[in-house]
Amino acid sequence: MAKPQHRTPEYRAAYKALRSAQAAGQWLSCVEPRCLKPSRAIAPTERASISHDPSGAVILGPSHLACNLSEAASRGNRMRARRARRLVL
Ligand SMILES: [Zn+2]
Repeated sequence: MAKPQHRTPEYRAAYKALRSAQAAGQWLSCVEPRCLKPSRAIAPTERASISHDPSGAVILGPSHLACNLSEAASRGNRMRARRARRLVL
């Protein structure tokens, strides 16, 4: 399911630019602070995504799909942990 942050015109424009750059055979660079790959280079054939800053409000740029999902997952875990603590209180 698409999150609200993926429905902004900025996100759509960034995603479109990413897709057309890859279609044109361009190599991109992963913007995630913690890149999981041996190199930040994203091959035109590699699955890429658009990364946001931790608040989800600012688009950072292209990233490896795996790096983006990892960042989003740890962000979700932190949010769930906060929620759990609040329920205890
Ligand atoms: Zn990466």
